[in-house]
Amino acid sequence: MALLPEVRESYGRLKFYVDGEWIDSESGEVHPAMNPAKDVEIAEVPYSTREEVKNAISVAKEAFEEWREIPLTARLRYLFDLKNKLEEHFEEISRIITQNHGKPIDEARGEMRRLIENVETAISIAYTLNKGEHLDQIATGIDETLVREPLGVFGIIGPFNFPVLAPFWFIPHALVLGCTLVVKPSEITPLSMDRAFKLIDDIGLPPGVINLIHGGKDSGEELIKNPDVKGVTFVGSTPVGRTVYRLAGEYGKRAIVQAGAKNFLIVMPDADVDRTIPALITSFFGNTGQRCLAGANLVVIGDIYEKIRDKFVDSASKLRLGYGLDEDVDMGPVVSRSAMNRIHGYIEKGVEEGARLILDGRNPDVDYPGYFIGPTVFEDVTPDMTIAKEEIFGPVASIIRAENLDEAIEMINSSQYGNSACIFTSSGATARKFRREVDCGNIGINIGIAAPMAFFPFGGRKESFFGVLHGQIDCVEFFTDKKIVISRWW
Ligand code: NAD
Repeated sequence: MALLPEVRESYGRLKFYVDGEWIDSESGEVHPAMNPAKDVEIAEVPYSTREEVKNAISVAKEAFEEWREIPLTARLRYLFDLKNKLEEHFEEISRIITQNHGKPIDEARGEMRRLIENVETAISIAYTLNKGEHLDQIATGIDETLVREPLGVFGIIGPFNFPVLAPFWFIPHALVLGCTLVVKPSEITPLSMDRAFKLIDDIGLPPGVINLIHGGKDSGEELIKNPDVKGVTFVGSTPVGRTVYRLAGEYGKRAIVQAGAKNFLIVMPDADVDRTIPALITSFFGNTGQRCLAGANLVVIGDIYEKIRDKFVDSASKLRLGYGLDEDVDMGPVVSRSAMNRIHGYIEKGVEEGARLILDGRNPDVDYPGYFIGPTVFEDVTPDMTIAKEEIFGPVASIIRAENLDEAIEMINSSQYGNSACIFTSSGATARKFRREVDCGNIGINIGIAAPMAFFPFGGRKESFFGVLHGQIDCVEFFTDKKIVISRWW
């Protein structure tokens, strides 16, 4: 066992970062941030008051006037510095992610790598962005020009499961483009973002360009409603996402809302079994099933069924559970006691509704007292069962039989969600039909987690996404507006 040391045992009471200063919250409302493997509190998270959110927004508004005037090349240098700092502190922040979220250290490192790729991609905007348009002589002596301008202050609301990465699908792009920000990470897993902000502090940005507050629903809603905020990006669950999108509409704000999921993985009779199984295992049980791109329903077609089921269950039952700072661990805990109870509830529901529990992850044998659930597999699941329809967000796989590809596609397209769907096959024609007919934003072909790279948009459809523009590279459009200038010189 190679147990890595924790960066710190405890992080005390968190502060806000506003106007370039670390400040104490006036709020009396404090919540614990936990280490979910050990079931111990490791920090106190103050929930910002309304006034504190308003203050952070007005500071960002003031900073916008200065930031947009700073030449692009100078703005880029801050981002280059940030990238270097993130590389220097790569391992440290990865360990903090693991300590506060529970995911195995290699998955935390993956999160950090993807985060840095977003910074790199945002830097590249300056070199690759459509620089605008100009047409001479649209009428006699008249020219027309399109100018792209930053819009102002934006709110960034993050989820617990990728606590630093998900907000970084937007943060570096907004900064390069000249916008200013108020960031509210998840109240459950705020520690890695807190550390990232210490690096942001080190690069010496003008005060107020990027601000950090903590809190839950009230702070999030204040960010959306405040008249000085131009828009919000949100990554989180569908019920909250729906509220965020509704409020954004009501208050006239731009919004990118990336929400919940229920992803199908389809295995065709011609799939390469030995290569498919490891991809399935990572998809269903990586990050303990707490990924918006995680597999949830495994649809197996034809006479390959028994073989896939047996190998899948066999591999799942061999995954090692424990504290993610132990390099030998494959699966950490789920994020909280309430998440564990919710997932247990779904397992009970699956049994009640007649699915067959063939691997039961409740009460696994682990050396730590935290919120552990082992890989859990149901078979004889039908698409109308609760466990096949609702997002469980834990290590629970539902195996469903289907006669043919059309039936599998029909199941996917009937789901309320449309985040991701994957197929395992050795037929190009089958893969092509799947890609064209499935109504989902991210498609995997012989890939179990169809996670788009930073230089592509992060897809999502139906109730997995509300809005027009997506995260990552797409958000360039989101943070800027186009001004049309028609000019005539006498
Ligand atoms: P959540 O919806 O509970 O919380 C997300 C964030 O919203 C938190 O910061 C929370 O404080 C804030 N919030 C809560 N109520 C709010 C309100 N009324 N107004 C504004 N903000 C509010 O989600 P979670 O449990 O932290 O994250 C898990 C969910 O996120 C899963 O459903 C997962 O599928 C989804 N997710 C989606 C993507 C994607 O790209 N589609 C990526 C990661 C996670």
